[in-house]
Amino acid sequence: MLHMGNSAFAEMGRAVGDHRYVIPITAEELGLGNRPGEAPAQEPMAVVLGCADSRVPLELVFSQSANDLFAVRVAGNILGSDCVGSMDYAVTHLPSVRLLAVVGHTGCGAVQAAVDAYISPNAYLGLSANLPLRRIVDTIVPAVHGADVALRGHYGPDVVLRSGYRAALLDAAVVVNAAIAADAMQRIFSEHLGERLGAAFGVYDLTSRLVGLPDLQMDWRHGLFPPPEEQQMPEFVDAVVRSLHVRGLLG
Ligand SMILES: [Zn+2]
Repeated sequence: MLHMGNSAFAEMGRAVGDHRYVIPITAEELGLGNRPGEAPAQEPMAVVLGCADSRVPLELVFSQSANDLFAVRVAGNILGSDCVGSMDYAVTHLPSVRLLAVVGHTGCGAVQAAVDAYISPNAYLGLSANLPLRRIVDTIVPAVHGADVALRGHYGPDVVLRSGYRAALLDAAVVVNAAIAADAMQRIFSEHLGERLGAAFGVYDLTSRLVGLPDLQMDWRHGLFPPPEEQQMPEFVDAVVRSLHVRGLLG
C-alpha cells in the first residue's frame, strides 16, 4: 500500500502546467472517522521514522490519510531515545501496526550539517557549543565517515578533489544514515518482528518523489527494503557509493 501510494504521489508531480487534481473524498476515507461526536480509534498500519524537513510530509509522500501512519519526525531521522519511546508505544499498544520503517531523504539539511562538520572541522567549532544541534550532527557523522571511507576506497583518495564529491558524499551519507537507523530499529524491536510485523527503510528522492534506494543499474530503485544487518553494512555502503546515482553526482 505504501509502495502504490508513493507511486501515485510521484505521478502527481509529473503533471505539467497548472493541472488541478480534484479528489472526491469522505471524512472516513480521510481517516477522520464517520461517527459525529465520536473520536476514531487509533489504527495506523505503519510506524514511520522520517525527517522533520517540510518537503517530506510522510502521509502525502505515501498517499495515506490521517490514522494510517504513526509518524515520528525528527531532523535527520535519527533514532534517539524519544523516537524509540514513541515507536515502542505504537508497537506494543497498536495491533494494527504491520511495518516499522525509516525514511530518509536526499538533500537532507541535517546530514548536510554533518557533512560540513566532517569536511571542515574548523566550521564545526561554532556548532560545538550548540548542544541540541550537536547531538543530531554527532549521531549522523558515523554515516558520513562510512560513506567517505567507501568513496575513497572505490574511487581513490583523489575523489575528494572531484567537483561532485560533496554532493556525492551527502546523498551517500543520507542513504547510509537511514540504513544505520533502520538496522538499530530492527535490533531494538527484534522481539516484536516476525510474520505480523516487518522492518524496512528507504530514501525519498526530492527530485523524482520516489521512495527507494540508489542502485547499480537504475538511478533510484523504487520501494522500501529490508534493513541491512550490521555485518552486511560494509557491503551495503560499498554498493551505495558504486550506484548510478552517486556516480552521476561525482561526475
Ligand atoms: Zn532532512
